[in-house]
Amino acid sequence: MKKITILFILGLTIIIGCKSQKNIHAKNKIDQVEYSVGAVLWQQSSAEYRALCYQAFNLAKLQLDKALKDWEHVNKPKAIITDIDETVLDNSPYSGKQIVLNEEFTEARWTNWVERKEAKSVPGALDFLTYANQRGVAIFYISNRSVSHTDATLANMKALGFPNADKAHLLLMDKSSGKEMRRAKVQASHQILLLLGDNLSDFDDVFENSGTESRHKSADQLQLAFGTKFIVLPNPMYGDWEINGIYEGNYQLNAQEKKAMRLKKVKHY
Ligand SMILES: [Mg+2]
Repeated sequence: MKKITILFILGLTIIIGCKSQKNIHAKNKIDQVEYSVGAVLWQQSSAEYRALCYQAFNLAKLQLDKALKDWEHVNKPKAIITDIDETVLDNSPYSGKQIVLNEEFTEARWTNWVERKEAKSVPGALDFLTYANQRGVAIFYISNRSVSHTDATLANMKALGFPNADKAHLLLMDKSSGKEMRRAKVQASHQILLLLGDNLSDFDDVFENSGTESRHKSADQLQLAFGTKFIVLPNPMYGDWEINGIYEGNYQLNAQEKKAMRLKKVKHY
Protein backbone atom coordinates (compact mmCIF):
# COMPACT_ATOMS: atom_id res chain seq x y z
CA MET A 1 0.00 0.00 0.00
CA LYS A 2 2.89 2.32 0.94
CA LYS A 3 4.54 1.55 -2.43
CA ILE A 4 1.32 2.37 -4.31
CA THR A 5 0.99 5.72 -2.46
CA ILE A 6 4.62 6.64 -3.26
CA LEU A 7 4.11 5.71 -6.93
CA PHE A 8 0.87 7.76 -7.02
CA ILE A 9 2.59 10.85 -5.55
CA LEU A 10 5.52 10.38 -7.97
CA GLY A 11 3.13 10.13 -10.93
CA LEU A 12 1.24 13.22 -9.80
CA THR A 13 4.48 15.18 -9.46
CA ILE A 14 5.53 14.23 -13.01
CA ILE A 15 2.10 15.23 -14.43
CA ILE A 16 2.15 18.60 -12.63
CA GLY A 17 5.78 19.11 -13.74
CA CYS A 18 4.90 18.41 -17.39
CA LYS A 19 1.90 20.75 -17.21
CA SER A 20 3.92 23.65 -15.83
CA GLN A 21 6.60 22.95 -18.50
CA LYS A 22 3.83 23.13 -21.12
CA ASN A 23 2.64 26.44 -19.67
CA ILE A 24 6.16 27.86 -19.95
CA HIS A 25 6.24 26.90 -23.64
CA ALA A 26 2.75 28.31 -24.20
CA LYS A 27 3.80 31.56 -22.54
CA ASN A 28 6.90 31.76 -24.77
CA LYS A 29 4.75 31.31 -27.85
CA ILE A 30 2.32 34.02 -26.70
CA ASP A 31 5.25 36.42 -26.23
CA GLN A 32 6.37 35.73 -29.77
CA VAL A 33 3.19 36.97 -31.48
CA GLU A 34 1.92 39.43 -28.92
CA TYR A 35 4.80 41.71 -29.92
CA SER A 36 3.45 42.30 -33.45
CA VAL A 37 -0.26 42.72 -32.59
CA GLY A 38 0.00 46.49 -32.14
CA ALA A 39 1.86 46.98 -35.43
CA VAL A 40 -0.57 44.86 -37.45
CA LEU A 41 -3.61 46.52 -35.87
CA TRP A 42 -2.15 49.95 -36.55
CA GLN A 43 -1.64 49.15 -40.24
CA GLN A 44 -5.06 47.54 -40.60
CA SER A 45 -7.19 49.79 -38.41
CA SER A 46 -5.73 53.25 -38.05
CA ALA A 47 -6.92 55.93 -40.45
CA GLU A 48 -3.52 57.49 -39.74
CA TYR A 49 -1.84 54.66 -41.68
CA ARG A 50 -4.06 55.36 -44.68
CA ALA A 51 -3.50 59.10 -44.36
CA LEU A 52 0.30 58.63 -44.32
CA CYS A 53 0.10 56.49 -47.47
CA TYR A 54 -2.04 59.13 -49.22
CA GLN A 55 0.38 61.80 -48.05
CA ALA A 56 3.30 59.83 -49.54
CA PHE A 57 1.58 59.36 -52.91
CA ASN A 58 0.30 62.97 -53.04
CA LEU A 59 3.88 64.07 -52.54
CA ALA A 60 5.07 61.54 -55.12
CA LYS A 61 2.68 63.05 -57.67
CA LEU A 62 4.00 66.59 -57.04
CA GLN A 63 7.60 65.41 -57.32
CA LEU A 64 6.87 63.38 -60.44
CA ASP A 65 5.35 66.39 -62.21
CA LYS A 66 8.41 68.44 -61.23
CA ALA A 67 10.89 65.72 -62.26
CA LEU A 68 9.21 65.32 -65.65
CA LYS A 69 9.87 69.03 -66.30
CA ASP A 70 13.41 68.91 -64.84
CA TRP A 71 14.42 65.92 -67.00
CA GLU A 72 12.53 66.94 -70.14
CA HIS A 73 15.81 67.73 -71.95
CA VAL A 74 17.21 64.23 -71.35
CA ASN A 75 16.56 61.96 -74.29
CA LYS A 76 16.08 58.80 -72.26
CA PRO A 77 12.86 57.00 -71.32
CA LYS A 78 11.70 57.94 -67.82
CA ALA A 79 11.05 55.44 -65.01
CA ILE A 80 9.94 55.04 -61.42
CA ILE A 81 11.44 52.26 -59.32
CA THR A 82 9.15 50.89 -56.66
CA ASP A 83 9.30 48.13 -54.10
CA ILE A 84 6.23 45.87 -53.84
CA ASP A 85 5.53 44.63 -50.30
CA GLU A 86 4.18 47.33 -47.97
CA THR A 87 4.86 49.87 -50.73
CA VAL A 88 2.23 48.94 -53.30
CA LEU A 89 0.80 45.69 -51.85
CA ASP A 90 -0.57 45.40 -48.31
CA ASN A 91 0.45 42.08 -46.74
CA SER A 92 -0.97 42.72 -43.30
CA PRO A 93 -3.38 39.73 -43.61
CA TYR A 94 -0.27 37.52 -43.78
CA SER A 95 1.04 39.08 -40.57
CA GLY A 96 -2.46 38.66 -39.11
CA LYS A 97 -2.31 34.96 -39.94
CA GLN A 98 1.02 34.67 -38.12
CA ILE A 99 -0.69 36.11 -35.03
CA VAL A 100 -3.66 33.73 -35.26
CA LEU A 101 -1.33 30.74 -35.71
CA ASN A 102 1.16 31.98 -33.13
CA GLU A 103 3.94 31.52 -35.64
CA GLU A 104 7.08 33.39 -36.71
CA PHE A 105 7.94 33.90 -40.41
CA THR A 106 8.12 30.69 -42.42
CA GLU A 107 8.82 30.46 -46.15
CA ALA A 108 5.96 27.95 -46.55
CA ARG A 109 3.34 30.21 -44.94
CA TRP A 110 4.58 33.24 -46.93
CA THR A 111 4.37 31.22 -50.17
CA ASN A 112 0.84 30.18 -49.21
CA TRP A 113 -0.13 33.87 -48.82
CA VAL A 114 1.57 34.97 -52.07
CA GLU A 115 -0.10 32.18 -54.03
CA ARG A 116 -3.53 33.18 -52.78
CA LYS A 117 -3.02 36.44 -54.77
CA GLU A 118 -5.28 38.31 -52.35
CA ALA A 119 -3.09 41.27 -51.41
CA LYS A 120 -4.80 44.63 -51.83
CA SER A 121 -3.23 47.88 -53.00
CA VAL A 122 -1.61 50.10 -50.39
CA PRO A 123 -3.92 53.17 -50.22
CA GLY A 124 -3.08 55.54 -53.09
CA ALA A 125 -0.48 53.27 -54.75
CA LEU A 126 -2.61 52.11 -57.67
CA ASP A 127 -3.85 55.63 -58.48
CA PHE A 128 -0.37 57.12 -58.35
CA LEU A 129 1.34 54.47 -60.49
CA THR A 130 -1.54 54.59 -63.00
CA TYR A 131 -1.14 58.38 -63.21
CA ALA A 132 2.65 58.09 -63.70
CA ASN A 133 2.27 55.46 -66.38
CA GLN A 134 -0.33 57.57 -68.21
CA ARG A 135 2.26 60.35 -68.28
CA GLY A 136 4.60 58.01 -70.17
CA VAL A 137 6.68 56.86 -67.20
CA ALA A 138 7.67 53.18 -67.02
CA ILE A 139 7.18 51.45 -63.65
CA PHE A 140 9.84 48.94 -62.55
CA TYR A 141 9.04 46.75 -59.57
CA ILE A 142 12.20 45.77 -57.63
CA SER A 143 11.21 43.38 -54.87
CA ASN A 144 12.83 40.76 -52.67
CA ARG A 145 10.03 38.32 -53.31
CA SER A 146 11.58 35.10 -54.66
CA VAL A 147 11.67 34.51 -58.45
CA SER A 148 9.56 31.42 -57.78
CA HIS A 149 6.74 33.84 -56.87
CA THR A 150 6.82 35.62 -60.25
CA ASP A 151 3.55 34.28 -61.68
CA ALA A 152 1.50 34.67 -58.49
CA THR A 153 2.86 38.19 -57.91
CA LEU A 154 2.06 39.32 -61.45
CA ALA A 155 -1.41 37.73 -61.35
CA ASN A 156 -2.19 39.56 -58.08
CA MET A 157 -0.94 42.88 -59.45
CA LYS A 158 -2.63 42.48 -62.84
CA ALA A 159 -5.96 41.71 -61.19
CA LEU A 160 -5.67 44.96 -59.21
CA GLY A 161 -4.81 46.85 -62.44
CA PHE A 162 -1.19 47.88 -61.69
CA PRO A 163 0.59 49.24 -64.80
CA ASN A 164 3.58 47.37 -66.29
CA ALA A 165 2.72 44.24 -64.28
CA ASP A 166 4.79 42.00 -66.57
CA LYS A 167 8.06 40.06 -66.50
CA ALA A 168 10.00 42.84 -68.27
CA HIS A 169 9.26 45.26 -65.42
CA LEU A 170 9.56 42.87 -62.47
CA LEU A 171 12.99 42.34 -60.89
CA LEU A 172 12.66 39.84 -58.07
CA MET A 173 15.35 38.47 -55.77
CA ASP A 174 17.50 35.95 -57.57
CA LYS A 175 20.84 35.57 -55.79
CA SER A 176 21.34 38.67 -53.69
CA SER A 177 18.80 40.56 -51.57
CA GLY A 178 20.75 43.75 -52.30
CA LYS A 179 18.88 45.94 -54.79
CA GLU A 180 21.73 48.12 -56.11
CA MET A 181 22.53 45.86 -59.11
CA ARG A 182 18.87 45.76 -60.11
CA ARG A 183 18.57 49.54 -59.76
CA ALA A 184 21.69 49.92 -61.97
CA LYS A 185 20.10 47.68 -64.59
CA VAL A 186 17.08 50.00 -64.84
CA GLN A 187 19.28 53.10 -64.74
CA ALA A 188 21.28 51.83 -67.74
CA SER A 189 18.26 52.28 -70.01
CA HIS A 190 16.06 54.78 -68.15
CA GLN A 191 16.20 58.10 -66.35
CA ILE A 192 14.97 57.28 -62.84
CA LEU A 193 12.66 60.02 -61.57
CA LEU A 194 11.56 58.60 -58.22
CA LEU A 195 12.09 55.62 -55.96
CA LEU A 196 9.36 54.28 -53.66
CA GLY A 197 9.78 51.92 -50.72
CA ASP A 198 9.05 51.08 -47.09
CA ASN A 199 12.56 49.87 -46.25
CA LEU A 200 15.51 52.21 -46.63
CA SER A 201 17.52 49.65 -48.61
CA ASP A 202 14.83 50.18 -51.30
CA PHE A 203 16.56 53.53 -51.95
CA ASP A 204 20.29 53.29 -51.33
CA ASP A 205 22.84 50.55 -50.77
CA VAL A 206 24.23 52.43 -47.78
CA PHE A 207 21.33 50.99 -45.73
CA GLU A 208 22.14 47.41 -46.69
CA ASN A 209 23.02 45.22 -43.66
CA SER A 210 23.60 48.15 -41.36
CA GLY A 211 22.66 48.53 -37.70
CA THR A 212 20.49 51.15 -36.01
CA GLU A 213 23.20 53.76 -35.42
CA SER A 214 24.52 53.55 -38.96
CA ARG A 215 20.97 53.61 -40.43
CA HIS A 216 20.18 56.75 -38.44
CA LYS A 217 23.39 58.42 -39.59
CA SER A 218 22.72 57.59 -43.25
CA ALA A 219 19.10 58.78 -42.98
CA ASP A 220 20.36 62.08 -41.55
CA GLN A 221 22.91 62.43 -44.35
CA LEU A 222 20.26 61.73 -47.01
CA GLN A 223 17.56 63.87 -45.39
CA LEU A 224 17.05 66.09 -48.45
CA ALA A 225 16.28 63.08 -50.66
CA PHE A 226 13.25 62.01 -48.58
CA GLY A 227 10.10 63.48 -50.03
CA THR A 228 11.96 64.62 -53.15
CA LYS A 229 13.52 61.61 -54.91
CA PHE A 230 12.78 58.99 -52.25
CA ILE A 231 9.15 58.46 -51.23
CA VAL A 232 8.85 56.41 -48.02
CA LEU A 233 5.78 54.39 -47.02
CA PRO A 234 5.02 53.39 -43.42
CA ASN A 235 5.57 49.78 -42.35
CA PRO A 236 5.45 49.15 -38.61
CA MET A 237 5.30 45.34 -39.00
CA TYR A 238 8.76 44.30 -40.22
CA GLY A 239 11.89 45.51 -42.00
CA ASP A 240 15.63 45.99 -41.75
CA TRP A 241 15.04 48.31 -38.79
CA GLU A 242 14.08 45.17 -36.86
CA ILE A 243 16.29 42.42 -38.31
CA ASN A 244 19.49 44.41 -38.74
CA GLY A 245 18.70 47.04 -36.13
CA ILE A 246 17.04 45.45 -33.10
CA TYR A 247 18.34 41.89 -33.64
CA GLU A 248 21.70 43.07 -35.06
CA GLY A 249 21.46 40.80 -38.11
CA ASN A 250 21.18 37.64 -36.02
CA TYR A 251 18.61 35.42 -37.76
CA GLN A 252 19.17 32.51 -35.35
CA LEU A 253 17.67 34.09 -32.21
CA ASN A 254 14.80 32.23 -30.56
CA ALA A 255 11.64 33.98 -29.31
CA GLN A 256 13.02 34.52 -25.78
CA GLU A 257 16.31 35.92 -27.06
CA LYS A 258 14.45 38.26 -29.41
CA LYS A 259 12.28 39.47 -26.56
CA ALA A 260 15.38 40.14 -24.47
CA MET A 261 16.99 42.09 -27.35
CA ARG A 262 13.83 44.17 -27.83
CA LEU A 263 13.61 45.06 -24.16
CA LYS A 264 17.31 45.91 -24.10
CA LYS A 265 16.86 48.35 -27.01
CA VAL A 266 13.93 50.28 -25.51
CA LYS A 267 15.04 53.76 -24.49
CA HIS A 268 13.67 55.12 -21.25
CA TYR A 269 14.38 57.82 -18.72
MG1 LIG B 1 8.79 46.35 -48.83
